[in-house]
Amino acid sequence: MKKFDPPKIICDICGSKNIYKFHESANGAQIFKCRDCKTQFMNPQYSEEYLNHYYSTYIRDESFKEENLIEAQSFCLSIVESQIPDKGNLLELGSGNGYLLSIARQRMDTIRT
Ligand SMILES: [Zn+2]
Repeated sequence: MKKFDPPKIICDICGSKNIYKFHESANGAQIFKCRDCKTQFMNPQYSEEYLNHYYSTYIRDESFKEENLIEAQSFCLSIVESQIPDKGNLLELGSGNGYLLSIARQRMDTIRT
């Protein structure tokens, strides 16, 4: 089974060829960035075959309590807010249980009232 697709040479979001290696994540993944739309993405990306295999054996750890998840996502959102203080739209890719977006919506509702 091949783990990765061939490296991308264009940005999937805007089609630009103006991409470059931005950094390497802690787990060794190469993170690229598009100079035109600023999107960051792993490159190369996992193959569909690898992801299908990975998620077919994926088991969620149910012992992790909901309040821990909420606290962790709240902390992550605080980091985003510290880097981007202006309120706007938030897009989360791979939103999992949706806690991050739920917390963000609650914070926006608090600001509006
Ligand atoms: Zn782009």
